[in-house]
Amino acid sequence: MAYPATVREVYSAKIAGIKEAGMFKEERYIHAPQGADIEVEFPAGSPPKKVINLCANNYLGLSSHPDVVQAAHEGLNHRGYGLSSVRFICGTQDIHRRLEDMLTKFLGTEDTLLFPSCMDANAGVFEAVLSEQDVMIADRLVHASIVDGMRLCKAMQDTYKHSDMGHLEEKLQEHQDKRFRLVITDGVFSMDGDIAKLDQIVALAEKHNAMVFVDDSHASGFIGKTGRGTHEHCGVVGKMDIITTTLGKALGGASGGCVSGRREIVELCRQRARPYLFSNTVAPVIVSGAIKVLELISKTTERRDTLEQNTIYWRKQLTDAGFDIKPGESPIVPVMLYNAKLAQDVARDLFAEGIYVVGFFFPVVAKGQARIRTQLSAAHTKEHLDKAIAAFVKVGKKYNILGKSKKEIIDMYGM
Ligand SMILES: *Cc1c(COP(=O)(O)O)cnc(C)c1O
Repeated sequence: MAYPATVREVYSAKIAGIKEAGMFKEERYIHAPQGADIEVEFPAGSPPKKVINLCANNYLGLSSHPDVVQAAHEGLNHRGYGLSSVRFICGTQDIHRRLEDMLTKFLGTEDTLLFPSCMDANAGVFEAVLSEQDVMIADRLVHASIVDGMRLCKAMQDTYKHSDMGHLEEKLQEHQDKRFRLVITDGVFSMDGDIAKLDQIVALAEKHNAMVFVDDSHASGFIGKTGRGTHEHCGVVGKMDIITTTLGKALGGASGGCVSGRREIVELCRQRARPYLFSNTVAPVIVSGAIKVLELISKTTERRDTLEQNTIYWRKQLTDAGFDIKPGESPIVPVMLYNAKLAQDVARDLFAEGIYVVGFFFPVVAKGQARIRTQLSAAHTKEHLDKAIAAFVKVGKKYNILGKSKKEIIDMYGM
């Protein structure tokens, strides 16, 4: 029998366990394009409600930008819907190469290779360039896709405490006997919104003869003065050996990713990275849309400047209102609530007030670190943010958490 009753029982019990633990994820159906204002059906079956979106990675507000949509239409008209091929057989068009060249220029690297997603870029890159003689030394909070990519690679794995440069240096010293050392970090960490100390990481890598890898998915397009990413913010453009990033966040938000960096590393990915070799090419509509995105953001920094202003304003409003937020500069602004149920209750009440946010709790973040992660967009106007802050204050008062310290919140609600 293909699917015995005992299998169904075991799986059903597992799903029930997820529900009991309060970790069941329910999808919310959006009845609109992605943007600052969306219509959300939640719970399923209820009429769509108009809400302000504060939880998308639509940092530059380009996900539904008319010029990007127009460019995607042109891509569809001139290069078709799909290529029915992986890149190296018959899945590479002129526009793929054009987008890769534009990314290389934008990121300040030597070459770039597109992947179906950044998850795939991370799944392929380590195995393609490292072997048993080498070591990967990763920040302990790197993205899940990096963890998976490292698992697929035969090089030795090690980690350093989050953003702890002393610990990284110890690890670099410890691994001097290996052939190559690769330091691995996110540029902007997605849960706390903090920025990697790339300048210090580069200095340590130079001192101890190591390469540097950064995944800039939450930075490409808006971090740094001209939005090139964390390496620009930290003054180390041109020093990155490997950058991976996504087209699925600020850069249009559709899908696709890339490995960008040293010429030989990119070439080895083209020859050996399995998600490049064995998964379909990025669709022409997306490539055309992404080319337009890069044109737009290379011409003017207006959108990332608006995002920066929105971030400063939002952080100040939340702080002045008495919320406990993670300090920083990135448009990822976590409102700390510590208790998982409280995070879910606050998110639900905010939704009722017309603000769409999601509660994050274990295992997405550490136990006792539950929060609501708000994310700003250049598409937000001051009116959006003022309406959102009014809702946050109303709900914050209801739960008596305004002006309260971490300890006071935990005393009231537990961890
Ligand atoms: C979102 C994200 C990814 C995955 O990107 P996709 O292109 O959606 O696969 C990878 N790494 C980091 C750090 C991310 O934030």
